[in-house]
Amino acid sequence: MDSTVSFKKYRFADTMLEYTVAGMAIFDAQELRLLEANTPYVNFVATIRAAQNESPFVPGTSLLECEDSEGGRRIVSICRAVIASKQTHYEKEEQYVSAQGETTYWSWTLTPILDEQGNVTHIVQTLSDVTAQVEARQQAEEARQQLSRANEVLEKERRRLEVVETVARWVRETLDATRIGQIAMEIIETNFDTITACIHTAQPEQRVFKLLCASHPHGPAPESLKSMDYMPYEQLGLTKGVLTQRDPIVVEDLQSAAEEGRLSRQSPLVRLGTHGYVCVPLWFGDQLEGTMVASFRSPVSCSGPEVHALVGMGTHIAAALAHARLHATIEKERTRLRAVLDQLPEGILIAETSGGAISYANPAAAHILGIASEEIARIPLHRHSWLRSGIETTREGRPLPPWNFIAIRALSGETFTGKETTVMQPDGRRVVTLASCAPLYSERGLMTGAVIVLQDVTAQKTLEQHKNEFFSIANHELRTPITVIQGFAEILQLRVSQDHSFDKLTLYALTNIVEQSHHLTHLIEEMLDISRIEQTQFKLDYTPCNLLSLLKGVFDSQSGVSRLHHFIFQLEGVQETDIIPAYLDEQRIMQVFNNLINNAIKYSTRGSTIEIGLKHVAERPQEALIWVKDEGIGIASEDIPHIFKRFHRARNVDRSHSGFGIGLYLVKEVVSQHRGRVWVDSCEGEGSTFYVTLPLAVSI
Ligand code: ADP
Repeated sequence: MDSTVSFKKYRFADTMLEYTVAGMAIFDAQELRLLEANTPYVNFVATIRAAQNESPFVPGTSLLECEDSEGGRRIVSICRAVIASKQTHYEKEEQYVSAQGETTYWSWTLTPILDEQGNVTHIVQTLSDVTAQVEARQQAEEARQQLSRANEVLEKERRRLEVVETVARWVRETLDATRIGQIAMEIIETNFDTITACIHTAQPEQRVFKLLCASHPHGPAPESLKSMDYMPYEQLGLTKGVLTQRDPIVVEDLQSAAEEGRLSRQSPLVRLGTHGYVCVPLWFGDQLEGTMVASFRSPVSCSGPEVHALVGMGTHIAAALAHARLHATIEKERTRLRAVLDQLPEGILIAETSGGAISYANPAAAHILGIASEEIARIPLHRHSWLRSGIETTREGRPLPPWNFIAIRALSGETFTGKETTVMQPDGRRVVTLASCAPLYSERGLMTGAVIVLQDVTAQKTLEQHKNEFFSIANHELRTPITVIQGFAEILQLRVSQDHSFDKLTLYALTNIVEQSHHLTHLIEEMLDISRIEQTQFKLDYTPCNLLSLLKGVFDSQSGVSRLHHFIFQLEGVQETDIIPAYLDEQRIMQVFNNLINNAIKYSTRGSTIEIGLKHVAERPQEALIWVKDEGIGIASEDIPHIFKRFHRARNVDRSHSGFGIGLYLVKEVVSQHRGRVWVDSCEGEGSTFYVTLPLAVSI
């Protein structure tokens, strides 16, 4: 600004100065007398001076007159400095308080006005009201401070979440409890100023907390803490609340607690100089997994970041410890189960649905299959070798299925018990097994695999074969001599009966020889039949016949021979003269009826009734029902399921009842081969009724 310019040159200068918002005044440089001032200036000075109980400062007054006040002295000294330096003085945002207590802020300048020689002739003072800017800035500053305080809180929360998140991330996939503890200790050491920290696991059976791991960032673990390795529930002091409560136990300052007598001064943690103390109970569901304790160098607050972070960490550590504990239990059970399976004499295989391979094979299975356990698991089920032309056969003569076929069927959800199968070992050796298998399901009911049990029956099978061979050879060898004996005995019997010179004993002896050799022939025939059945050579010779006349024939011959019982022939739905057409092996069916009637005679007392019946009704035209009913010794209920098995004799038979236990076995074989059924209704001591159904010609 050219300070020599006179405002008076301009026509509107006064008006403009009057209406400007800034205050302006001009002083002469010699006496610092106010020469002229605009209204804003006058008003401002009046307000300030009124606040200090001073009279208004009007043009003509010199600043020197105000030197008795501190403000006056200051302005005079600044004016002198401006005159001396010829430099403008700036004063920024000075605060003024009015008499009414209203605060305003003003920026002002003192500018020297120079004459042509460069001497300061006047001083111009300007005043601008900057209250609005200052207040806006102050508000902004306050808002900034508030923001930074909020940021601080957020930052603390972020740190806490970061700690919790770190714990969660690290322990999530760890199933080893010790490792979980170590991770927690490392995180506590890194993030907090602790003196000690530790995790104890709860052992509810022993009612004790056991130290899992501890951290002592400032040196080795002090001896005094050794007593905390095992803490019986009954001896818990400060932490006994953890057994029931879920909130953390916080002691803000252990030292002051000790001073106030709330805690023993001898407590190991107090002696270590610990201040803050936090114990977080580690609950997972209803299970207390343990405790996590941290002691700090400084006091802590219940709502402080340490407590929040430790509580957050505790949730994840409790879950991880629970998973680790369950995993350890499952592993232990699995090891025990494996140990049991490994010892079993039966071969056990576990096949998995995914991949269709064997995931477990016990040593017995490896032995049966002739492959090492590890090897079995590597070969998919369908790749195991098997016999294309089955040499081993079932009793019915069908080739035995290979074991892996059974396993594959088990994987498709089928269940088998005791199914004969063959195993072809890599060296070509064949093993006959009884395979049982069942699918395995997950908790959600999804099929995950199958268990296959193999029982090596090669030895039994070979033994059985040898026995059958022996039977068949023995029978053939016995048949010839017995036929000769029987033949000669019959010739002799004929002679003796015609020649009266022989005594009664000779006749009796010969009759007995004939009878017993008949009995023996019958027995040998039955034995031969068994061999034939075993060797699948039991062939039937079907011919069309009348079932009714066949049964009547058997009835007549039996009732004619045995006069010691009362025989009844009963018909239902048919007349004695009717023809019931059937397509049967007549000899075998006669053998069936004879066996049943012989048993009825054998197992009932003289004079009792034996009923032989036939029922053929229009409702069931395709089959006939035949029964043989006696009033004999009956069969106990526990024997009934077994009497059709080979060589089985009920417990209530004694030596007086001759027999081998093969008659009913043959009956069942013959009837089933005719596609009929046989069963018994019996009550011990009350008699038995054997039923046989046979299909008739229409359905054959
Ligand atoms: P066996 O009569 O030679 O012993 P079976 O095979 O004919 O052989 O019969 C098997 C068993 O069934 C007999 O030992 C006997 O215990 C029982 N049993 C068969 N029929 C009768 C019956 N009518 N009454 C009582 N028990 C019988």
